[in-house]
Amino acid sequence: MADVSEAVALTRDLIAFQTVNPPGAELPLIEFLAQRLDAAGFTCTIQTIAEGRANLLARIGRRDAPGLAFTGHVDVVPLGAKPWSVDPFAGVIKDGRLYGRGSSDMKSGIAAFVVAASACAAKLKDGPEVVLAITAGEETGCDGALAMVESGILPEAAALIVGEPTGNQPMIGHKGALWLKAETFGVTAHGSMPELGDNAVYKAARAIGRLADFDFNVARHPVLGKPTLNVGKVTGGLNINSVPDHAEIHIDVRTIPGMNHAELRDGLTGLIGENAAITSLFDLPGVWTEPDVPWAARAIAATCAVLGIPFAPQSAPFFTDASVLTPALGHPPTLILGPGETAQAHQTDEYAEVAKIDMAVAIYAAILADWSAAG
Ligand SMILES: [Zn+2]
Repeated sequence: MADVSEAVALTRDLIAFQTVNPPGAELPLIEFLAQRLDAAGFTCTIQTIAEGRANLLARIGRRDAPGLAFTGHVDVVPLGAKPWSVDPFAGVIKDGRLYGRGSSDMKSGIAAFVVAASACAAKLKDGPEVVLAITAGEETGCDGALAMVESGILPEAAALIVGEPTGNQPMIGHKGALWLKAETFGVTAHGSMPELGDNAVYKAARAIGRLADFDFNVARHPVLGKPTLNVGKVTGGLNINSVPDHAEIHIDVRTIPGMNHAELRDGLTGLIGENAAITSLFDLPGVWTEPDVPWAARAIAATCAVLGIPFAPQSAPFFTDASVLTPALGHPPTLILGPGETAQAHQTDEYAEVAKIDMAVAIYAAILADWSAAG
């Protein structure tokens, strides 16, 4: 296995760190990357967010103007119930595929931008700033990115690349997410005398019927499509022979640009019914960049030149740390662009294509060269 590229070797090193979240335990991996980036000439800040957990901010270049930022998360999702056919942390390479938890989502993306930026560090040192914002805890709700934003260590940026798995396709946005818990209330009574109670499950059932028919009444976005609503979980009642006085409906809404989450939430509260309570479990805005914004157009052109394909506007099906980081960075144009396979994220026997990892290094190098030249 001696003849793998630097980025593939680094991906394997990163896969070997156990960063399954929960618990995450990202600190050893973060320290390893900080050491490597420090040696390459970056100024590194390790931000502890909990015991054994940390983010890394690595900066290089002049700080006289907002920089080009790259971001990626180092935590990975659990292995799942199904057994793997390979060791998920060994970085096995077979038939051009690198297997392992996090190979696609998204340790290959981090390895590719770390290698690309390190390779041209000597040039970046005196050029316009480049920032690597490497986060913990993305998979459980962007916890690391939120901590990074709240700490104030994040500088403003003029552009952002999210190395999440897109198979190296430049994606110009993703939907927002609004996760809600709606509760209905009633009065309990013995199951043999339901007329003495007030059934909270019946109220929830009627509300779910209305949710199933819910019409957002917004025009379809040309790339992101329509907003969606899904009731993902329902609970209610204590036992078979009592009238339930409480029920819960968990609702997953995915929004498109221009939708106001607070207004949407108010509208859904009215729909659930009188005396219902609604709580936001998770609230992230979407991300959208017009592809003809100057930096985005240049980065997309550089990417398509390496890939040898024309550009077709696409969006990512998943949400990313960009929902948290882009507003904090000053709303720079944002591309989601990374070597992993979108369909491999969170899968048993997750893999990344070795050739795409090397291609991502070439793409990031071309974007970095453009950035240096422009500054
Ligand atoms: Zn991811």
